Amino acid sequence: MVDRPASAIKELVENAIDAEAKNIAITISGGGREYIAVDDDGVGISKSDLPLAVKRHATSKLISDDVMDIRYLGFRGEALPSLASVSRMTITSRTAKDDCGWSLAINHGKEETLQPASRQKGTRVVIDDLFATTPARLKFLKSDRVETAHIYDMVKRIAMAHPSLRFTLSDTTSGKTRPPLTYIAHNNTDDAWRLRIAEVMGDGFAKEAVAVDSTRGTIRLHGLAGLPTAHTSQATHIHIYVNNRAIRDRSLVGVVRAAYGDTVPRGRYPQAVLYFTLPPGEVDVNVHPTKAEVRFGDAQAVRSLLINGLRGAIDQEVRTTHSLGNRLGNRLENRLGVQFGQAPQAPNIPIAPPAPANGYPNNSHNNSHNGDNGMYTAREERSEITGNIYDSTPPSPSASHSHDENGILASHPLGFAKAQFHKTYVIAETAQGLAIIDQHAAHERLVYEAMKAARKAGRIKSQVLLIPEVVEAGAAETEMLMAHSDMLGGVGVVIEEFGRGSLLVREVPVLLAEANIKQLLLDTAAELLRHEASTAIEDKIDHILATMSCHGSVRAGRVLNQTEMNALLRDMETTPRAAQCNHGRPTWIALSLADIEHLFSRR
Ligand code: ADP
Ligand code: MG
Repeated sequence: MVDRPASAIKELVENAIDAEAKNIAITISGGGREYIAVDDDGVGISKSDLPLAVKRHATSKLISDDVMDIRYLGFRGEALPSLASVSRMTITSRTAKDDCGWSLAINHGKEETLQPASRQKGTRVVIDDLFATTPARLKFLKSDRVETAHIYDMVKRIAMAHPSLRFTLSDTTSGKTRPPLTYIAHNNTDDAWRLRIAEVMGDGFAKEAVAVDSTRGTIRLHGLAGLPTAHTSQATHIHIYVNNRAIRDRSLVGVVRAAYGDTVPRGRYPQAVLYFTLPPGEVDVNVHPTKAEVRFGDAQAVRSLLINGLRGAIDQEVRTTHSLGNRLGNRLENRLGVQFGQAPQAPNIPIAPPAPANGYPNNSHNNSHNGDNGMYTAREERSEITGNIYDSTPPSPSASHSHDENGILASHPLGFAKAQFHKTYVIAETAQGLAIIDQHAAHERLVYEAMKAARKAGRIKSQVLLIPEVVEAGAAETEMLMAHSDMLGGVGVVIEEFGRGSLLVREVPVLLAEANIKQLLLDTAAELLRHEASTAIEDKIDHILATMSCHGSVRAGRVLNQTEMNALLRDMETTPRAAQCNHGRPTWIALSLADIEHLFSRR
């Protein structure tokens, strides 16, 4: 259960919350492996109860049979004993009734001393050398910085559930001079949530997010739902709480994603902080040892509240209906016996790539949060990496078939670009019929392949920023990125730490000169957190390159001229694996004349 320093801190902080603390001060050093201290001003533990607290199943919560009550964070009196068995622990505590405090020292499970200590009301638990004698556990820990990143992340999750409490987190690792992370106490008003979310997720998120507040029967859902444009590469920014407890529930995350529908590009996730409140009797917390998963009495009601509550809120902001798209899709599927987004089944319809994703291949990519990345304007830069992509004969803009155009049709599978529509797709006439190209997906693949090739050749060219960019990435993200700063430097992203939670970006790859650096770094941090378990450096680098390519590529919503469109087609023809984007979606589909005749019932 306690597998890393962050989970130890979670247990200690939850105990402090259960003890009705108002102020919780956390201190760590060496990623929490060397030292953890959690100090609270809660009810304290009396002298006689101190030895009991570290005995298994000696939870004070059993007595009142409250152990299953979700209002309590504690479970079966496991945390302190198991932590005490894998570290040197000192608990110092004083209740309101005591004349003085008492301090209990335990060395790897063996009680050592119980002696008077000076102490205000409340409890301080200190853990030294966590896992020092359990090499098997130690082996699974990552670098101090990565462990620290997880600690920040954990504290942030807990803090959002308890806006009225004050939290501080100080890192005293030698050589560090950072101010502590502080979440101030907010009065327990309805606005406290919003203030705390702003502290944790950033002012920007809180200002732009949409308020959600709906009820269904006894269940209330409230919180903040990010704008669809604030999407990220991972679901890690979807925070769901049930009665003030952070829960992990993949199906609810799926519902959140579904509520946004195609307003968020496929493969991307919205950001949201959502709180469910319901009577404790209607939710079972006895399904997971850390109460991270719960079972709802009426799961269906919870899901429909979530989807309707979110949709209602998002609808008012931005929502494009895709029913027409679906209808057309169905029509094509019925006619041709082929589902879009799947490997071609009928030989007469060469839908380009087999794609594992289900559903309609190219719903909206209205991915305009960082505006126009304009990569296709950077002519020299692109040529440097991918070769002379504009060398193909400049196509004639005339609508009729010119000599050149005929030549292109005959010799190039992706044909001749005719038009762009919805600033997102390119239509090309091919020798057999037509091709529809998703400009962002296609370009993303090209950039990715180009970056991989450049890296193999040892030259991802970076560009020194004239004015280094300060990125407020957040504490956990900053730790994670700094833990991998060498790796990032190797692919052209040169960063430095700039105060807690902020980074200074000094260099970026030339290909990404126009990208939104903050978004890029946040996505990379999320990607690193997710793929942390993979030890293969190459694997991680590939993920980083893929993330970077997404940001370095021409966005949906950018107008392309005909030369640019044709350059894109020619580039696709010469790039390996160009038929699928980095997320496995198709980058283009083809319709033959025969297919089109089918659609018009000419055949
Ligand atoms: P649980 O939280 O599941 O009850 P723990 O092992 O985490 O079990 O803690 C054991 C007991 O120690 C708790 O039930 C509580 O009575 C006491 N305790 C632990 N930490 C604190 C604290 N910070 N303040 C007051 N009491 C505490
Ligand atoms: Mg506990």
